[in-house]
Amino acid sequence: MPDRTESESRKLLGRLRAAMAESSAGQARLDRIVRLIAESMGCEVCSVYLFRDPETLELCATVGLKSEAVHKTRMRLGEGLVGRTARDRQVINSANAPGERGFRYMPETGEERFSSFCGVPIQRLGEALGVLVVQSRAARVYTPDEVYALEVVAMVLAEMTELGAFTGGEGGLSPRHQRPITFRGLSGQEGAVSGCVFLHEPRVVVTNPISEDPDKELARLAAAIDALRAQVDAMLAGNGVMDGEEIAVLEAYRMFANSRSWLRRMEEDVRSGLSAEAAVEKEQSHARARMGQAGDAYLRDRLHDLDDLSNRLLRILTGQGRDTGAAMPEDPILVARNIGPGELLEYGKGTLRGIVLEEGSVGSHAAIVARAWAIPLVIRADGIVAEALNGDLVLVDGEQGVAHLRPDDAVRKAFEDKIAMLARAQERYADLRDLPATALCGTTVSLHMNAGLMADLPSLPSSGAEGVGLFRTELQFLVRNQMPKRAELSALYARVMDAARGKRVAFRTLDIGSDKVLSYMKPQDEPNPAMGWRAIRLGLDKPGVLRMQLQALIRAASGRPLSVMFPFIANPGEFRQARAEFDKAMDRERILGHPLPSSIEVGAMLETPSLAFASYTFFREVDFLSVGGNDLKQFFFAADRENERVRRRYDMLESPFLELLSGIVQRCASAGTPLSFCGEDAGRPVEAVALAAMGFRTLSMRPASIGPVKSLIRRVDLKEARKVIDAARIRGDESVRPALTDWLARQP
Ligand code: PEP
Ligand code: MG
Repeated sequence: MPDRTESESRKLLGRLRAAMAESSAGQARLDRIVRLIAESMGCEVCSVYLFRDPETLELCATVGLKSEAVHKTRMRLGEGLVGRTARDRQVINSANAPGERGFRYMPETGEERFSSFCGVPIQRLGEALGVLVVQSRAARVYTPDEVYALEVVAMVLAEMTELGAFTGGEGGLSPRHQRPITFRGLSGQEGAVSGCVFLHEPRVVVTNPISEDPDKELARLAAAIDALRAQVDAMLAGNGVMDGEEIAVLEAYRMFANSRSWLRRMEEDVRSGLSAEAAVEKEQSHARARMGQAGDAYLRDRLHDLDDLSNRLLRILTGQGRDTGAAMPEDPILVARNIGPGELLEYGKGTLRGIVLEEGSVGSHAAIVARAWAIPLVIRADGIVAEALNGDLVLVDGEQGVAHLRPDDAVRKAFEDKIAMLARAQERYADLRDLPATALCGTTVSLHMNAGLMADLPSLPSSGAEGVGLFRTELQFLVRNQMPKRAELSALYARVMDAARGKRVAFRTLDIGSDKVLSYMKPQDEPNPAMGWRAIRLGLDKPGVLRMQLQALIRAASGRPLSVMFPFIANPGEFRQARAEFDKAMDRERILGHPLPSSIEVGAMLETPSLAFASYTFFREVDFLSVGGNDLKQFFFAADRENERVRRRYDMLESPFLELLSGIVQRCASAGTPLSFCGEDAGRPVEAVALAAMGFRTLSMRPASIGPVKSLIRRVDLKEARKVIDAARIRGDESVRPALTDWLARQP
């Protein structure tokens, strides 16, 4: 690498700093910058093209081309050499531009046939924002030092664009992060809400891309690197609880953190005039651009490591980050790439007004938490993390799975109307609160709510639920950073029962594993965790925690009725073993002289198809059964409930699944075993009608669904619904949904 101590880039940045310090408006400033670059590099043309929309670039400033073309000349992504630079995010440096593939002559710009062309992508964190171009008559290839200088300037331009430096440009080009954008994803939870963006992992904003004093910046960079290495070392030192895989990841981290070439490149950038954070970001941008192109999974992973380290370094340098970052707005809408249930629970119920995720799936436990909190959730809002800034207005339409970021007035108005309409529907549901879910045929369905946190219990009276049909005890474990003690658990379960005021609460023992990972338990390296060592399997193999939990439940009940159910029972033997643990726990409590529950019922969750075909003996043995439709559907259709691509192909109302349910209903009926359904489908009105028509008399759902489900059940005759379902099945309809929804639409 050439010694750039007194290089082109350093000189150029020195002059650029002066231009940035001026108080001129965005456009004037941009004009001055292109002039400065052309002068410094001795070329006839210097232009800046920025994205007008993701597919279109617009000439925003130029020296050397006709000034009338500014904000008029546009080109599509990939079109001409400029479009190609933007699309491929790679420098094009050619002494014979007209001879290059894709060259496009643009007469409207007054462009002569310039021989040489050098286009450098303007990008921030791997995202293309535009292109910086220099052209000259003489056939020349720009030297590596000149190209480097242009890259550094492009980096600074990227930051300036980010900061809205060109706001107010005469051409009316909205700067990035100011224009309205609509993200069309999927609905994770219904409802409509407006609020302000709160980024789960806020982006670091670099406010000082150009340094005044390279030595000072080098010292800052060195200190930050030391702090980063110390962080990584500390992570490795705490590796007692990690397995080989995690250690390997951290070793790779450490290798990068100590990488001489990474550091050297950043030091070069600082010497050439960038601030320490801008240098880190420049490296990160390179890594991200490469990540997008890397076909090799291993290389992508390593680039990810580098990306992560760069983020850490930026947080150290800027003091911004999750802990020290922006204050939460009053009406926060959480925006994140993805979030685990534990992280989400840390925010606490009542804190967030809505959630928008880039990834995520309807079946994930984070989505279930959002549903329990009854806040709108949009998933698969591709690209929102890069577009949203903390504090931006965002309208979350959980009905349609759409998020409107920085909406214009028309969208805002339409959205207000929608919120008002939904509020009116809520009022109607509130009127039904104390009425039973009795259908026109006289059948009453008992509606219960799903819960998992103390904070859910206040919804019990307000939702009109008759009890808690599923209490997911693992949520309590997920919100902590260490294993709770028995006394704590017992006190907590007692509080849950107190809050339920005599209404039934079906406590499900720990369902850990799959996507529910406890930070304080050794993670398992399993190829298919959803089908792995989870729930009761873990509970029976390592019974310490199960025993503690059972004891805590028995003590909490103390003189009150107790309902316990075991998750993920795949065969009767597992239930028998778990039941034996419960009986032993009861014996111990009896011997210790502790007061016992006034009555007990011990049930199982039916979540694997195998259990649906268990013997009648088993069906008689359990005190009750609860169908966990989320897992049952996942295993019946062999479709990962968290994988949106496959999950949505299948429907609970498909005839074979109803066949399975009908077998379960029939076995329970002949064994006299109480049966309920507690998967997410129970909370969807059409599905709930189908379940009730099939013979389920107890449905457990998120509290917000009780109103809509009750409202629909009260309007239909379940016997008639059953006839419609049976006719569809006999006809051989793949799904009964079309027939059922058609029939429902004809009901008064
Ligand atoms: C289910 O699988 O349907 C269920 C209720 O359990 P969870 O969603 O917690 O796995
Ligand atoms: Mg389950």
